[in-house]
Amino acid sequence: MTHQNCQQCGKCCEKWGWEQKGVIEDIIPWITQGRRDILQHVGIRFSDGTKKNGRELSLEDLPHIAGIDYWVSIQGRKIRHCPFFLRAEDGKVWCRIHGAKPEVCIRFTPWNESIRDYALSCPACKDTVP
Ligand code: SF4
Ligand code: SF4
Repeated sequence: MTHQNCQQCGKCCEKWGWEQKGVIEDIIPWITQGRRDILQHVGIRFSDGTKKNGRELSLEDLPHIAGIDYWVSIQGRKIRHCPFFLRAEDGKVWCRIHGAKPEVCIRFTPWNESIRDYALSCPACKDTVP
């Protein structure tokens, strides 16, 4: 595995910070810590085919979850951007849930992926692109 330093340019969040899948381990702390600000943007699908917005979720629901979708609007519709991505006026990029972001974001290391169009625009990937 290659080790690179993410330069926090935010291109990956802007381009791919949506239509990602979550894991149960993401949502347990959001429930126990009352992070409705995050949960309200999570789509939950159950094994019986029903759906719920994450803010209505309780720990008792967890064994029945079949899918976790990032991200949805407060009304429950899929959205094509991450609601926690913020590009400030000075151009700097911030994750508004940095200390609580999901595994898919924490573990994303594009220099270990074979996604060439992405790698070409990731400044931290440049060294690995021929
Ligand atoms: S595009 Fe690359 S350098 Fe920019 S935030 Fe994503 S991983 Fe980091
Ligand atoms: S939650 Fe944070 S790290 Fe994940 S896509 Fe959104 S802005 Fe990026």
